Amino acid sequence: MTISKTITLANGVEMPRIGYGVFRMKEHEVAFNGVIEALNAGYRAIDTAAIYQNEEAVGEAIKASGVERSELFITTKVWNADQGFDNTLRAFETSLKKLNLEYIDLYLTHWPKPTLAETYKAIERLYEEKLIRVPGVSNHHQHHLEEVFAVANVKPMVNQVECHPSLAQHDLRAFCAQHNIAVTAWAPLGTGIVFTHPIVKGLAEKYSKTPAQIVLRWHLEVGNIAIPKSVTPQRVKENLEVFDFALAVDEVAAISALNTFHRTGADPDNFDF
Ligand code: NAD
Repeated sequence: MTISKTITLANGVEMPRIGYGVFRMKEHEVAFNGVIEALNAGYRAIDTAAIYQNEEAVGEAIKASGVERSELFITTKVWNADQGFDNTLRAFETSLKKLNLEYIDLYLTHWPKPTLAETYKAIERLYEEKLIRVPGVSNHHQHHLEEVFAVANVKPMVNQVECHPSLAQHDLRAFCAQHNIAVTAWAPLGTGIVFTHPIVKGLAEKYSKTPAQIVLRWHLEVGNIAIPKSVTPQRVKENLEVFDFALAVDEVAAISALNTFHRTGADPDNFDF
């Protein structure tokens, strides 16, 4: 299957299917250099969050790169402690200043707290005011999305959730597809746990690709957006080189069947932060 480098979201906005994640890159120099590396390699989407404490470094790297703002797709997220309507608007202002940007492409509720509805209403307000191009959420199960739908004039257009072959999220992805919500996979490589599986290794040999590239291609084939993180230049580059081959339908199914409901992170129904 031929897959384009961007996906068209519910409102017509184009979002790159592979973005660069910057979690655990708190040190200014690491985040700055990582983003420069990624932009030079051809990435146009960067995924940050207020809690990653690197929005300034990301903003500086964007400016230093010389890449046109209109070519970029920048995602950030409101942290749990800043949820609620007014707090979210304030948190957004802070993120915008730190990133030194005039608008954000995609703004997300980071985790579903009991205040998720008010938080989403603030995100919707930012969308109406054209301060963000796309409203979205993260770590929302189906029942969280239904809570949002109950108050939303405009449904979220992206749900960013943990997703990889060991947590393939078949049901949630089907529900999101029904509602025209694109799914972004965080921890798309599943922190490497399937790299040694014979199916993934075999496909890597067959296509002369790395196991990471096979897993990222699987994401594309099932319709996901993926935001792999690396600070190793060779890996940053290889994670984007997944548009020049395709997996067969049965190969996609074989990887999908590796699902064991194994989470590397917290369950959105049971977290304490
Ligand atoms: P990931 O799947 O991107 O895995 C990262 C790990 O894989 C790193 O240890 C890296 O060294 C390794 N790796 C990267 N490329 C590789 C390659 N080509 N070959 C071998 N190993 C490779 O997981 P992640 O960093 O947890 O998630 C990616 C991004 O998702 C984050 O940076 C962040 O932007 C986002 N995220 C969002 C949430 C959320 O709650 N919304 C939570 C976690 C992460």
